[in-house]
Amino acid sequence: MAKIKNVEAFCSICGIVRKMELTGEVAGEDNKRWAKCKKCKQTMVIDMTEDVVVQKVSLDGIENESCVTYSPKGSYEVGQTIFHENWNDFGKVVSKEVLSNGQKSISVEFQKSGNKKLVESYNKPQTDQEEQSEVM
Ligand SMILES: [Zn+2]
Repeated sequence: MAKIKNVEAFCSICGIVRKMELTGEVAGEDNKRWAKCKKCKQTMVIDMTEDVVVQKVSLDGIENESCVTYSPKGSYEVGQTIFHENWNDFGKVVSKEVLSNGQKSISVEFQKSGNKKLVESYNKPQTDQEEQSEVM
């Protein structure tokens, strides 16, 4: 559960981008994490989509890791390695977000296809919101 991961994010104490260690999730906020700045040692809530500097993710050898086969109905964690059957491509989840229609999506860096956005926890719209039903 408490998977430690290092990121580079904007530290509001230092006022610049620092290396930080993710220390925990924020209840009800998918894009936010508790993070501890390695310089000032302060713990704060950071926004994974706004404060974190997107780094070049290392995808070397991830095909040898225990990858989860991607399904739109599945749920994924940042840092998780997934395998996309249709593309025959391995990737790593770099961020997560919730779209305006409430649909969750993940941003995945693939070895061959590059950065792609995929839906997760996909639920068919129950009412007449047909125009939102785009699935990859
Ligand atoms: Zn700091």
